[in-house]
Amino acid sequence: MLDENVDHEYAPISGPPTFCKASAELAFGADSSVIKDGLNVTVQGISGTGSLRLGAAFFSKFYAKSKAFYTPTPTWGNHIPIFKHAGMDVQSYRYYDPKTCGFDFNGALEDISKIPEGGVVVLHACAHNPTGVDPKPEQWKEISSVMKQKKLYPFFDMAYQGFASGDINKDAFAVRHFLADGHEIALCQSYAKNMGLYGERAGAFTLVCSSKEEADRVMSQVKILIRAMYSSPPIHGARIVDRVLNSPELRNMWLGEVKGMADRIISMRQKLKDGLAREGSSHNWQHITDQIGMFCFTGLKPEQVDRMINEFHIYLTKDGRISVAGVTSGNVDYVANAIHQVSK
Ligand code: PLP
Repeated sequence: MLDENVDHEYAPISGPPTFCKASAELAFGADSSVIKDGLNVTVQGISGTGSLRLGAAFFSKFYAKSKAFYTPTPTWGNHIPIFKHAGMDVQSYRYYDPKTCGFDFNGALEDISKIPEGGVVVLHACAHNPTGVDPKPEQWKEISSVMKQKKLYPFFDMAYQGFASGDINKDAFAVRHFLADGHEIALCQSYAKNMGLYGERAGAFTLVCSSKEEADRVMSQVKILIRAMYSSPPIHGARIVDRVLNSPELRNMWLGEVKGMADRIISMRQKLKDGLAREGSSHNWQHITDQIGMFCFTGLKPEQVDRMINEFHIYLTKDGRISVAGVTSGNVDYVANAIHQVSK
């Protein structure tokens, strides 16, 4: 990009068209009929957060059926403030089961099935933050079918495509399945994690419409919202994404790196679990390897978290969430020992 001596002009309000197209293709697959039929409205967002905020603003202004967003319990800490800030009423559905450190499938399904028609259900597409607990493909299928029956609106947050399994297609399963089921979805994407572009604020917001004509009208309104909120998106990160996704050579390198990162995290989970067994821990730590993505909900209680911080200088959130990205072959045994000491 330096060699190209690129300019610093404003991006189009909706971001570079090649960036937007590549983002939609990354999420839906290059052969997606939604894209071929021109049903998606995809604009650059200010990373994942800005895309969520823009999506919430659109629903707040134009979605007449409901003003309620239903988020999983727990959810990413910023979801609730973002949606409230846009004037939505934030409700919740059961998601994580502390007893199993896994997905509360029955609880989630029961709560979702009771949501009044038209309600907007926020779904973490993969690598749920903070729990690392995702529905299995069969469970996604059932959630999609219940939501279809109940006429609920799927609002996907996909901040970690590639991070869960190392395969961007596998991680897009839920999004693609909902589309195949005929849902019109909203989707927020972030390149912060999977391209390491945190501070560049590159992301995308997509709405899938029922016709090309509707998509054109929606695009026009989304642009009016962006114009009033921040005028046009930042250029540098989007240019990097654009070049990486649209160059076969760079894209393959990137896919290899995403897999490398995901595999490293998966191997650290195994090493941590093995380390706890070696320490002689009597607890069941199966969830460490069952959970996926960057985060692990250890199940440690707040007083145990305090000991991890004060005695061992291992820093994690009060809810017991560790970032597995911070666990390395150099510190994993120390972490396992500390978890054992505070939990035995
Ligand atoms: N959504 C989820 C679930 C996240 O975990 C994050 C970041 O931690 C984001 C969205 C947004 O991140 P960003 O705004 O940096 O792209």
